[in-house]
This record gives sequence, structure tokens and C-alpha cells, in this order.
Amino acid sequence: MLENTSLPKKIVIVGGGTAGWMAANLLATRWKNSEIQVVESQDVGIIGVGEGSTPHLKLFFDAIGLQDQQWMAQCNATYKTGIRFEHWSKVAGFESYFHPFAAQTDDVFTLPLFYKNIQARMQGLAVNAHPDHYFLESYLAKHKLGPVPDECFPFGVAYGYHFDSALLGQFLATHAQGLKVKRIIGHVENVLQHENGNIKAVCLTDGCQLDADFFIDCSGFQSLLLQGALQAKFVSYQDNLVNNAAVVMPSNITSPLPVETKSTALTSGWAWQIPLKERFGNGYVYSKEYIDSDQAETELRQHLNLLDSDVEARHLSIKVGRVEQHWYKNCLAVGLSQGFIEPLEATAIALAFNTISQFIQCVEQGKGTSQFQKAFNDDINQRFDGIRDYIVCHYKMNQRLDNDYWLDRAGEQQLSDNLNRILYLWHNSKDFVQDMFQHNVWGAYQPKSWACMLAGYGVFPSINKAHQMNTAAYQHEMTGLDDFIRRCGLNFKIHEQQLK
Ligand SMILES: Cc1cc2nc3c(=O)[nH]c(=O)nc-3n(C[C@H](O)[C@H](O)[C@H](O)COP(=O)(O)OP(=O)(O)OC[C@H]3O[C@@H](n4cnc5c(N)ncnc54)[C@H](O)[C@@H]3O)c2cc1C
Repeated sequence: MLENTSLPKKIVIVGGGTAGWMAANLLATRWKNSEIQVVESQDVGIIGVGEGSTPHLKLFFDAIGLQDQQWMAQCNATYKTGIRFEHWSKVAGFESYFHPFAAQTDDVFTLPLFYKNIQARMQGLAVNAHPDHYFLESYLAKHKLGPVPDECFPFGVAYGYHFDSALLGQFLATHAQGLKVKRIIGHVENVLQHENGNIKAVCLTDGCQLDADFFIDCSGFQSLLLQGALQAKFVSYQDNLVNNAAVVMPSNITSPLPVETKSTALTSGWAWQIPLKERFGNGYVYSKEYIDSDQAETELRQHLNLLDSDVEARHLSIKVGRVEQHWYKNCLAVGLSQGFIEPLEATAIALAFNTISQFIQCVEQGKGTSQFQKAFNDDINQRFDGIRDYIVCHYKMNQRLDNDYWLDRAGEQQLSDNLNRILYLWHNSKDFVQDMFQHNVWGAYQPKSWACMLAGYGVFPSINKAHQMNTAAYQHEMTGLDDFIRRCGLNFKIHEQQLK
């Protein structure tokens, strides 16, 4: 905690990965009189994965005053309108669906029909309730159009990015140094504490000691300060998110350039494919309880058509869960040091951004003292747990059921109360979205996202052939919607052209 409500004078950030440099940029932009140092170890290095974002990365760049043209080209970045989930369902017609980002302004024209058709489909009518037909972002992804519209287009499209994580780190490090952040190459080997438990200084192997009145722990999975020195408790998510490893390798990029991340279900987990300007980033997130690392690598190579290639694979262990207190004593953990949820919805950077910006807001509002820590930590915990529920729901509702891995996920019984309520409403409510709002159960994702996932996997009762009289009116509305989305699409350029 801070001793009083003023801004910290001296801040040390341990770790120079994406989280460390994001924190440094945000703090240096807001607190121009604070002295900020980032220490990073050459012996440890950064995790070097994490190349897809949500629209929060745009919020981050907005907050530090940079526009797309000022950073994207330097980071091999591309645009992203959402994530396509492939082969998570074997229900005919639902083998693939697209999850667009939330809160698009054109949604007011398209969402009501999606919700209406879901309810009709729930009652057994043969209407089109597949999410791919309802959103401009899905149309952009299908036609490989960039998400920044011509100037005269009246609706904004929220978008995220794909980027080379190493290049983004270098870019942010250079930018932060331009804001007077000091970069120190050194390895922290010891942490000194005051009598009250607050951190006094970190000591480097070269004998240097870095004192500060506030510390930010961005040291990755090790969590040197928060879980190490301060012994903050870790709450594991392993019980219902069983994936604990990943194998990663690049492949050649294709043209036209996609504007979506692809997440494909494999035998014992799922593979991401992220389009960057000069390569695809690929990885397979899997559980070692079901396959070993050699099998996972072979399966990923097969999936990417790289069985005969000598492209190198990297193997990583992952630990899912979060700390109980992200802000504890005079230390805030940001990034992998505060927790991690498998990257199925690419939420880690969003959580890091939320954590730092919310902390800055707290301190600026005079709430930087211990009495406000609980409310802060509860809020961040809710965000983590809400995302966990959404990811668990992907597994619980998978419609593959073709081997033990997928059967075990569908049989998962350890669901949070909130997730149980959402699934109950999906199967029983006469108005799923209205009831979600009324019971305030949607958590970290808006009802649109829940509806996209559940409808996208084809989680519907069978069509009732005795009740098929009224679908002509639904089809007429769908034709109007198709036309509306197609006409909106005329305002967008091919993705590659937009990047130029
Ligand atoms: C398989 C996988 C896929 C992912 N995909 C996504 C994704 O698509 N989207 C997304 O948003 N996120 C994703 N993530 C998460 C994302 O990679 C991280 O959140 C992000 O890179 C931030 O990492 P970090 O900065 O917390 O840690 P790291 O990158 O691990 O950085 C740790 C830093 O701490 C320093 N350090 C460690 N020990 C010491 C020491 N003793 N002394 C000094 N310095 C030290 C290191 O030198 C390094 O600079 C993924 C993660 C994994 C594992």
C-alpha cells in the first residue's frame, strides 16, 4: 500500500515483457513526476508468445496517445475482428462459428434479430440461428476486409490486433524510454522488506540495489515479488481448466491476409493460428494428462501440414489461475505474475491493461491506501473468474464427444454458480438475454458473446417438424439483414490494402 494518498515518487517494475512495458508506458504517461525504472533479466527472457488481442490493446494505445500508423508496421501487426472456432462442434451446420468482439455500434440493428431467432429456434422452429449471419465483423472476416471503415461510414467497429510479441516489447521499451523511463538490464536475486512487510528494494546479482516506494511485479510466471517475497496466495483453475502445456511454431503466411484468429479443436486441446504480416503464429494448447509433448508436436505439425518441415517447435508449461490479491502491500502484480487463463479468447493483455489502468485511477482518486485494496482486488478477481467461466463454458458445451478428452470436458461438474445459472437460462428461459440482464449473471462477457458461443455450437433442441408454418417471415427478415450487412461491407477495404 502507499503511505498516503499522493502519487508514488519512485516506482520499480521488475520484468520487461509485454506486461512490464505496458505498465511503464501507462505510468510514465500519467505520472510525469514519478521516477520509473524497469529491470529485466537477460538470463530469463520473455515468454515470447501472446500475439492476439481484444480491443483493449487499442484502448491501451489510445491511453498513451499512439495511433495504429505509429506502431503497427513496426510490430508486423494486423487487424483482428474476432475469433473463429472450428471443429468444437460436430452438429451439422455448426462445425464452425465466429465470435465477434462485443459492443459494436451496428449491433443495435442486428442483435435483436439474432436474439429473436434464437428464441424461435429454442422452440423448435427451423429458423437460422447461426451467429455467422448476424454480424458485420463476421462478414469482414469472411471477406478479409480490414475493420477501419471509410470516413463517411456512421458506425464504429471495435477491433483488436495480431502482433509479433517480441517486436511489440521492443517498441514499447523504446517508447517508454522516450518518456524518461529508465531501463536496467539486471537479474533480481533478492528482495529486501521493511518491518511491516512492504518491499524496500530489489537486489541485483551485480550488487546494485533498487529502492522504491512502489513496486510492480511483471516477472512472468515466477511472480518474484508478489507470490515470491510477499507470499500472496495463488488460486488454481486447474480443476476445471486442465490444459497445462503448449507447443508453438510459425508457418508461412497466406494471401489474402485473414483478419481473424482461428481456434481449431484438436484431439486433446486446441490450436491457435494468428496471422501476422510476415508469418502465422501457431500453437497447440493441450493437457499432458491426455497426450505427451512429442504427440502434441506431431499433431500440430500434421494440422499445419508441416510434418516434413524442420521448422523448430517451442514447448511451454502453463499454470492457470490467479492470485487472491493482485495489489498487496506496496506491490501490484501485472501480467503472468498475477495469473493466467489459457489464451482461448486472448484475454491476458486485456487483464493486464485493466489492472494497471484501474490501479492508476484508484491512486489518482486518492484511493491508493490499504482501505481500498480489497475493493480493487475483488474487482480484478471478478474479471478473472468471469473469463474463466466463459472459457470453461467452451469446454462444457463442446459438441465433439469423440474421445476421452472431449467427453471429460463435457462431463465437467465443477461449474461456478454463475455459469450454472447461465446454462439454466439458456435451456429454460423464454427470453435468454432479457433474463441474463435481469439476474445480472453475464459476468465478464456480454450476453451477445454467450449467445454466440451457445448458438455457435448448435446447442438447441431438435427442430419440431410439426411447427414449421411461420418461417417465411423469418426468412424475409434474414434477407433484409443480409442485404444491410453486405451494404455496410462496401465501406471497408481489403485487409492488406488497409495495412499499406
Ligand atoms: C501459450 C501462451 C499463449 C498466449 N497467448 C496470448 C494471446 O493470444 N493473447 C494475450 O493477450 N496473451 C496471451 N498469452 C499471455 C501473454 O503471453 C502474456 O500475458 C504477456 O506476454 C505478458 O507476459 P509478462 O510480461 O507477464 O511475462 P514475460 O513475458 O514472461 O516477462 C517476464 C519478464 O520478467 C523478467 N524477469 C524474470 N525473472 C527476473 C529476475 N529474476 N530478474 C529480473 N527480471 C526478471 C524477464 O526478463 C522478463 O523480462 C499467452 C501465454 C501463453 C503461455
